[in-house]
Amino acid sequence: MITVKNVITPSTTAEAFEALQQNRFATLLGGGAFLRMGSKNITTLIDLSRCGLHCITEHDDHWEIGAAVTLGELEQHRELNRQYAGLPAAAVREIVGVQLRNVVTVGASVYARYGFSDLITGLLALPVKVRLHQAGEMPLETFLEQGAGGKDLLEAVIIEKGVCKGGYVSLRKTAGDYALLNAAAAVVNGKLRISVGARPRRAALAHSAMSLLQEAAVTLNESSQMIWTEEVIQQAAETAAGELVFGTNSRSSSAYRQHLCRVLVARVLRACNEGGGRS
Ligand SMILES: Cc1cc2nc3c(=O)[nH]c(=O)nc-3n(C[C@H](O)[C@H](O)[C@H](O)COP(=O)(O)OP(=O)(O)OC[C@H]3O[C@@H](n4cnc5c(N)ncnc54)[C@H](O)[C@@H]3O)c2cc1C
Repeated sequence: MITVKNVITPSTTAEAFEALQQNRFATLLGGGAFLRMGSKNITTLIDLSRCGLHCITEHDDHWEIGAAVTLGELEQHRELNRQYAGLPAAAVREIVGVQLRNVVTVGASVYARYGFSDLITGLLALPVKVRLHQAGEMPLETFLEQGAGGKDLLEAVIIEKGVCKGGYVSLRKTAGDYALLNAAAAVVNGKLRISVGARPRRAALAHSAMSLLQEAAVTLNESSQMIWTEEVIQQAAETAAGELVFGTNSRSSSAYRQHLCRVLVARVLRACNEGGGRS
């Protein structure tokens, strides 16, 4: 059970950030679902719901997803999902159930850098930056590796625009459980990214497999689409399984995760070949 002494609802992220710095037990509130699973004593709970962070906005060259947007809103946003081959929706669709996804937020999910995260794996396959109140903008990959460098507030996730093909897949023992492993791949503006998460470490890009595929792609002139033969896909899946590190926990052994990596990476690459969506 959590104990909260004081709840505040600032109207700007600057006020929220200031309140966060004032006390080491001050805590930001997203959807509150994960916070409630713990047993923290919170002096000041900072409700972000009035900070104007609840919009998904299309700009000329990027999309901006505010931190307070729920995973349900992300899943249901037609235009965003159309432009990114259904990848955002596919990456959150297996998370517990509709009720939870309608409460939990993008900002908390990304800032927390959970190893098991489905959303992070999906986003990492896209050209994504995060915007932090203090640290400013940085690529999602950098943020995952280095963190914010202090107590910060994630304001938005920014996705570069471009022609996209992609796929996302995860394997769970039962519906609603955390993934044993998840993987995503996307080609945006001719650049391929492959991410693998729930290893159980946090998601990472498979850079060697990406280079191999980038070089081996057959580019179709008329549509500028990159496609790969099945042989190349198998080689890339093997490369990804060899370059990433896998661990053991109560859900799976590292050896099984490594095996799954070959299978899931091959599936998301075939989804890229086909154009995208759920694989
Ligand atoms: C039962 C259960 C099962 C789940 N299963 C999965 C799963 O299978 N796959 C998956 O990907 N996810 C899963 N999740 C995680 C979920 O998707 C969310 O990522 C998680 O609940 C955090 O979102 P929230 O809005 O509830 O955060 P909160 O509980 O409100 O906050 C979590 C943490 O983030 C901080 N925070 C909140 N907003 C910000 C911000 N803008 N900037 C910086 N810090 C912030 C809070 O202070 C807190 O420390 C599960 C969660 C639950 C409760």
